[in-house]
Amino acid sequence: MPPDEATQFDGTIDASKQIMETDRLNDSERNDEQAFPKLSDEQIDSIRPFGREVELPAKTCVFKRGDKSTDFFVVLRGAIDILSTDCHGGKQLLVTHEPRSFTGELSFFNNQKIFADGFTSTPSRLLRVHWKDFRRMLMVESDLATLILRAFIRRRLALIGHNFFGVFLIGPAEFPDTLRIHQFLLRVGFPHTWVRPEDKGDDGRTVQEILSLKLSDLPVVQVAEGRSLKNPSLTELASELGFLEEFPGDETFDVAVVGAGPAGLAAAVGAASEGLDTIVFEAGAPGGQAGTSSRIENYLGFPHGISGQELASLAQIQAEKFGARFAVATPVAVVRRNKSQEFEITLSDGKVVRARTMIVASGATYRKLDVPGYQQFEGRGIHYAATPMEAQLCKGEEVVVVGGGNSAGQAAVYLSQTVSKVHMLVRSQSLSSTMSDYLIQRIQASSKIQVYYETEVTSLSGKQILEQVEWTCFSTKQCSKKPLRTLFVMIGANPNTDWLKGCVTLNEKGFVVTGKTMAGNPYETEEPGLFAVGDVRADSVKRVASAVGEGAVVISWIHRYLAEFRAKREGGRRAA
Ligand SMILES: Cc1cc2nc3c(=O)[nH]c(=O)nc-3n(C[C@H](O)[C@H](O)[C@H](O)COP(=O)(O)OP(=O)(O)OC[C@H]3O[C@@H](n4cnc5c(N)ncnc54)[C@H](O)[C@@H]3O)c2cc1C
Repeated sequence: MPPDEATQFDGTIDASKQIMETDRLNDSERNDEQAFPKLSDEQIDSIRPFGREVELPAKTCVFKRGDKSTDFFVVLRGAIDILSTDCHGGKQLLVTHEPRSFTGELSFFNNQKIFADGFTSTPSRLLRVHWKDFRRMLMVESDLATLILRAFIRRRLALIGHNFFGVFLIGPAEFPDTLRIHQFLLRVGFPHTWVRPEDKGDDGRTVQEILSLKLSDLPVVQVAEGRSLKNPSLTELASELGFLEEFPGDETFDVAVVGAGPAGLAAAVGAASEGLDTIVFEAGAPGGQAGTSSRIENYLGFPHGISGQELASLAQIQAEKFGARFAVATPVAVVRRNKSQEFEITLSDGKVVRARTMIVASGATYRKLDVPGYQQFEGRGIHYAATPMEAQLCKGEEVVVVGGGNSAGQAAVYLSQTVSKVHMLVRSQSLSSTMSDYLIQRIQASSKIQVYYETEVTSLSGKQILEQVEWTCFSTKQCSKKPLRTLFVMIGANPNTDWLKGCVTLNEKGFVVTGKTMAGNPYETEEPGLFAVGDVRADSVKRVASAVGEGAVVISWIHRYLAEFRAKREGGRRAA
């Protein structure tokens, strides 16, 4: 909203000020110098060439909840109040930007809808930077970019969990759809408050009664005053929150990345930082499989480990800083080539986007067990790999390995060197048809490995982490229950390649075959300009570090392909 239009606030501000002390950010959040730094004269001077000074009366709206592409303001004189809205439409003062402070948080930066209002609280002089110039400024002024980005990230962290910010999710914990939406909001880092319908208000009535909600309507996401979504799909929710990209029909990207796991995120950072026009499509939330890991300890540079979610959100911000665009909750449905040799990418909602090259980074989904409560222990006792790191975690303990293939066999043999006992659960009557003989012999020779045939996990339990595993032999019905903290599930992974069928060669397990072209490019498929990296690629090492490495390296091949593509097109034009 252009501040020059001088939208006057309707007066609710007075009511909000009465309750501000309880609802605004707390003292330590407000006084966090990294979240709310004061700019020096020199820093303000370096912003000036990108903006212009505006003089505004008190109570002028400078941006409002729901706006996108909002301008950036530095307060030179006066102040800007930032107000959030509660689920009844009441306004709360979150913070006041005083002279030398600047507006914004992560949604300013990635062009999502903002979820707060900004009003001048007194007559004010502001330095206003148009959002397009703001992007340019971040590219040119790197020290300033670091300061602003750090502030935006810290503000977002302060706002996550703040009761009067973002959206309200109202739903019972035992409804899987409540957890589905909660998990999405967590993984995209969107500020929200989860309210249980049975929670009571001051008058003793439950939230469900106060809001007149039927149990069959739940979960409900309240996105703004008077606007609720009943059990929305992730795409609906993402659209409402402004996560979905709008694509003008005439745009052709240099690179379209499919999947925002570690491989796709690395490709996006590499491509955008090298000036390529980059779009990333992600079916769910960024992070992929790694996003489900509570601590990745074998990734370079993080000696204390890093959660997959944190790694992914920092990588996304990094890619966005260089100009990459993200469409989350946007699965790619089909790809085909048009006459101009560009890729036409059809999204699940039917929209078509064009790109000159494509990077398939859609990963794989580890097969999971169909056991109640399984999801809650993923990354909290359930593992899909047995590396030295996992072996260290369960050293001296008893563990369970599920699976009868080579990966399960290797894991059992490897773990038997450090754990006290491996309980190996196999669905079939023997290992001979599914496992290499040398592994079978080692398993039989080991006093630490006990194989249970025709057996499957029947229950898991624990509070925060896995504490107990129960398994049952389905022929004898014999059941064992043990206090165990570690379960290795090694029953294979399914590549996310259904959307690619008929378009590229897949191996017998459905992974994308690369590296067969004359050019000797290890990541290119038989379809020129179509590359695959990370777990989705046949023969890749299924690890975060290798996925990131492949995503980064493939960009040099993209440059080569684009240079040839342009040269051919120029040649064609000259010949015509
Ligand atoms: C619980 C768990 C813990 C792990 N821990 C570790 C660890 O500690 N260390 C380690 O090195 N490795 C670990 N791994 C393995 C590691 O996470 C993977 O090797 C890595 O995530 C692979 O990255 P990727 O980008 O290739 O694929 P993925 O991480 O699988 O990401 C692929 C992305 O593509 C998206 N996608 C799929 N289809 C489409 C479509 N049609 N359109 C748009 N988007 C699509 C998916 O939603 C997903 O976000 C772990 C895996 C799991 C499951």
